[in-house]
Amino acid sequence: MPLKTPAEYVDSLRNMKIRAYVGGEFVDSVVDHPSVAPHINTVAKTYELAHVPEHEDVMTAISHLTGERIHRYTHIFQNADDLIKKIQMLRLLGQATGTCFQRCVGLDALNAMYAVSYEIDQANSTNYHARFRDYLGYVQREDLMLAGAMTDPKGHRAKKPSEQEDPDQFVRVVEQRSDGVVIRGAKLHNTGGINSHEILVLPGTGLVAGEEQYAIACAVPADAEGVVFIFGRQSNDSRKLEGGCDIGNTRFGVVGGEAMVVFDDVFVPTERVFMNGEIEHCATLVNYFATWHRANYGGCKGGNADVLIGATAKMTRILGTDRNAIVKDKLIEMIHRNETTYASAIGSSALGYQLPCGSFMVDPILANTVKQNITRNVYEIGRLSHDLAGGFLATMPDSKSFDNPEIADWVRKYYGANPEYDVMERIRFGRYIENMTSVTTMVEAMHGAGSPQAQRISMLGQADIEGKIEMANKVIYGTDDVAGLPLPDVNPKPDADEVSDKT
Ligand SMILES: Cc1cc2nc3c(=O)[nH]c(=O)nc-3n(C[C@H](O)[C@H](O)[C@H](O)COP(=O)(O)OP(=O)(O)OC[C@H]3O[C@@H](n4cnc5c(N)ncnc54)[C@H](O)[C@@H]3O)c2cc1C
Repeated sequence: MPLKTPAEYVDSLRNMKIRAYVGGEFVDSVVDHPSVAPHINTVAKTYELAHVPEHEDVMTAISHLTGERIHRYTHIFQNADDLIKKIQMLRLLGQATGTCFQRCVGLDALNAMYAVSYEIDQANSTNYHARFRDYLGYVQREDLMLAGAMTDPKGHRAKKPSEQEDPDQFVRVVEQRSDGVVIRGAKLHNTGGINSHEILVLPGTGLVAGEEQYAIACAVPADAEGVVFIFGRQSNDSRKLEGGCDIGNTRFGVVGGEAMVVFDDVFVPTERVFMNGEIEHCATLVNYFATWHRANYGGCKGGNADVLIGATAKMTRILGTDRNAIVKDKLIEMIHRNETTYASAIGSSALGYQLPCGSFMVDPILANTVKQNITRNVYEIGRLSHDLAGGFLATMPDSKSFDNPEIADWVRKYYGANPEYDVMERIRFGRYIENMTSVTTMVEAMHGAGSPQAQRISMLGQADIEGKIEMANKVIYGTDDVAGLPLPDVNPKPDADEVSDKT
């Protein structure tokens, strides 16, 4: 059965030669670096839970290619139930780690490429889809972790790729060879790439004629020649180097350990190229990816919020405020916000529809609504957590103060609250809340899967405003009422030349 164990995942990373810089310095082994280790431990959980019989149904699936049981993170969505199970898997993993577990971008990129390679072939009689299925078989067999790389640096935001002063602001093909292509550029904010096996590189925007060099989608091993990761900073990340509980989420880290990934003239063999110049399919590729990905946030952030709500509820017990009705009501508000986004994610999955290639897409407007709500609800849940936990989140001394005999008695005494709890519980849970409501975590909720404006633009396009105007016209001017009721006589609809519905 092609399901890696957590140890096999870590060993497989050790066998790779990933070129990475952390804190501005080259690292020999990402696995052994304390800044990356919590993120690797988080991904290991995704491998571990796939072996737990109780979770088999959500963590694994049957491959439509081979009929074998595979990890759900390498599966192509075959029906609405697959989409629902994905959301359930994300909530489970969010609950188990309290943070981002990094494999979702790769999964959605895999599905987007599967669907669009089919559509390109239908339109152009190319053979990308068969090539991609071969690659998918390899990913499923080896149970690989994929990072998805879409977001280009983008340079001047008001200019298209072909209008940039620096043509490398979007990843592009700099050389076409008989056996493959050479790509140059960078992708930013790359989640989990530094501890992945493969990177799926997709265009990050729709393209127009003349921009064919940017229409490149391909798979690159994370340790391919010319691939370099430059690890990002996070709020309070130097605490990882100090050790101790001030790190916050000590075991699993904060968000996904994002990095800039540079493609310094990377050769990609033809069998790993899945789009090469087909500008007319780029917008669909971006749109498919983003739509699946936006629904996810109701699952993963739902699981993360479960842990945060739990930590906050425990904090109210530590403080002795838990029986107060207003405190309970704030917890209820946190729960309500969390379940609202989860419900929309399940809803968008349940209403999924079949794409031309046979796989399943979530309901687009509901998926965009999930992500738009996340850009608000995660902040509001964090705000309520700050409110209930108190100001010590911002002012408590570091954990070493509790070990120094010269001052330990004072900090233990004056940070103590409900005597049923050890003071270090207050500190540990406080540090968790601090880190999981930090700038890094909040910005992920804001921008991951696209900025809020991206969802709003999509929602306007998907909302069928003309259809809604027609509904309003029918309700107000309709004449198909049941006979015999004392309904008032109203004016008929004015003539079209007197009033226009068009804006
Ligand atoms: C924690 C985290 C993890 C991520 N993981 C991944 C990943 O694994 N893979 C990946 O590909 N991407 C990833 N992303 C990237 C994410 O998709 C982007 O952050 C998001 O699409 C916004 O792009 P940007 O950050 O470049 O924002 P910018 O383009 O810098 O935009 C900033 C603001 O300006 C607005 N804006 C931009 N252009 C215009 C314009 N022309 N007119 C008016 N307003 C404009 C935007 O709406 C936004 O509000 C991740 C992001 C985060 C924060």
